[in-house]
This record gives sequence, C-alpha cells and structure tokens, in this order.
Amino acid sequence: MKYVDEFRNHAIAQNLLLSLRALVTRPWVVMEVCGGQTHSIVKYGLDELLPPEIELAHGPGCPVCVTSLELIDRAHALARRPDVVFCSFGDMLRVPGTSGDLFQIRAQGGDVRVVYSPLDCLKLARANPSKHVVFFAIGFETTAPANAMSVWQARAQGIKNYSILVSHVTVPPAMVGILESPGNRVQAFLGAGHVCAVMGWEEYEPLAARYRVPIVVTGFEPLDLLEGIFLAVRQLEEGRCEVENGYSRAVSREGNREARRMIFQVFEPCDRAWRGIGVIAGSGYQLREEFWAYDAARIFDLGGIVSREPENCISGMILQGARRPNQCPAFGTACTPETPLGATMVSAEGACAAYYNYGRHLVR
Ligand code: SF4
Repeated sequence: MKYVDEFRNHAIAQNLLLSLRALVTRPWVVMEVCGGQTHSIVKYGLDELLPPEIELAHGPGCPVCVTSLELIDRAHALARRPDVVFCSFGDMLRVPGTSGDLFQIRAQGGDVRVVYSPLDCLKLARANPSKHVVFFAIGFETTAPANAMSVWQARAQGIKNYSILVSHVTVPPAMVGILESPGNRVQAFLGAGHVCAVMGWEEYEPLAARYRVPIVVTGFEPLDLLEGIFLAVRQLEEGRCEVENGYSRAVSREGNREARRMIFQVFEPCDRAWRGIGVIAGSGYQLREEFWAYDAARIFDLGGIVSREPENCISGMILQGARRPNQCPAFGTACTPETPLGATMVSAEGACAAYYNYGRHLVR
C-alpha cells in the first residue's frame, strides 16, 4: 500500500537494529502507552528482534481495557432499559461486565447498536424521538474531539433525547501514575502518535523534565517503532531527558488546535478510575456543567450496581507493565478471545489479545 510499505522496509529495519546494538551498553526499560503500538510490536515481533538489554513494557494504552468495570456495568444497566437505544463502538460489545456483555443484552432484547461515529447517534436520536439514545463515550484524547462535537451538535440542533456515558482518560496523568508507582521500572516512554496528533507534545515537556524521563512521540509502523525505540535509548545512553518527535509526518508541537478547543469547550479534567489500576488524579474528562443535560450518568439513576472483577485476571498488572500476558496463568487456557476473562483479551488494542492473536500462547 502506498505510504505504508516504506515504513515496513526490511533493510532499513535491519540498519536500525544494527544501530541499536551498537548504541546500547546496559539494560533499559521502555514503555509504549498505546494499544495500537503494542499490537504492531507483537505482530512484527519487534520486541524479539531488539538487543537483550532493551525491554519493552506494554502500558495502559487500550481505552477499552482501562474503562472501569463499574462503568461497564452501568453501561449494561442502561442498555437493558426499554426506553434506551445504547450505542457503542464495536470493541465494547464483547467486553465482559460483572454479568454478561452487550451482545448478550442485545440477544435478550436490548436495543444495542454499533456506530462508527458518535455523530451517527444524532441521526438515531432524530429517528427515534420516543427513545433516549446513549453513546458510550470511551477513549483517550483521540476520540474526545468527535465525542465533544456530538454533544455540541446535539445542543445546537435542539436534540434532547441524546446523551453520552463518559469514560474519557488522558495519557500524561497515567504516565505520572506509572512513574510514581512503587517499584516502577519504566525509564523512557514512546508517546502515542495519534494522541499527540490531537494534543501535540507541549504537555509532555514538564513531565520529561520533572521525572527525568525521555519521551519520544512515535508512530505505528515497524520503522516508526524501531526509530522511536532508538531515539529513546539514545537519550538514555546520553543521559538526556527530552521530548523528541519521531512522528513528524503527523504530529506538531501544538497538535490540532481546533480539536483541542472543541474538547475543552465541552469537557473539563476530572479524576478517573482506571480498570486494574485505580483512581488517577486529573486523568479523565467529564462534561462541563453547561452540558450536564447530555450526561447519561446524571440523567439516569445508575446507583446500586455492585461490580465484581474476575478472580483469575491479572490485567491490572499487565496494564501497568508489571507482567506480560503470557505470564498470566489463564492466558490461552481459561482465557482466550472466545472465552475472555478480561477486557485485555477482548479489545483490538488489548495486550492479551495481541499476544494470543500473534501466536504467543503457542510458545511458553
Ligand atoms: S490473559 Fe485473560 S485472565 Fe489473563 S490477564 Fe489477560 S485478560 Fe486477564
């Protein structure tokens, strides 16, 4: 495919690997904070090609995986209501809640729909005036502009039977949470290129300086990732801790100003619970007060739900880079994509799904 093949060039990859081998003098731990990058790393076996001194830790970069079980259970309670059309991106339908998933709720008669954009929900709301359309607004800074736009447009068009169940999370506070966690081993980060395409990298600069940690904005193709790892390790070897942009074809320092403006017109920062990790201060977005009429959590009474995590799932440790999926006793046995115990085995960006889909359950 044009514009992709050149980022999968075998000879250039070999050269980057040779440069890395010549560069590295001691062990380093580098974390990617993006589920898409995790999948590319595992798909192309990049972690297995690196010099043994370089360890890649997979971070909490899958938005479906970090959505708290309590919020998923709330979403399921909404989807069971006869007066609700519940809309979501497809990934969420198979994520198990405390009892069942959205597919099962749909099979039992719930009106659960997959949409490709939150703006599709506005059409649904107009077409179903006797129902209330709820969109499950999960994701990092990447999905926030469109979700904000849907609320903005709903208000502008006078649509009153639409709301969003918000579970937005943001990357920089999660990095801080990892760096401040007891026993942290991460020494450098690969910044998620698509998040930085929206937000730029300004907000990472104080973080790099305060924690003395290199951060390299990185894309998703094999050469993007190898170059990102090379730049991060070069900083570590040289004792530097800066933000570097390894994805200049998509990312600028200030990001997408219009998208950022839309986010902060509709949302404001809030504390957010991350699944398997706990509450991280300032790590989420919530609707501003002037948009509370579009907040499903305020419109519907969602109290009294008791959530229960599956006993055998160690996805919290995996999301913090403390364990690898193939170190989970249930990986590939009790837990597979057909019988998932945790969200990290379901989502297209989940680390457990990546390890399974690319055959690592066959090699112990
Ligand atoms: S393999 Fe399954 S049970 Fe183990 S951490 Fe991943 S999702 Fe949880």
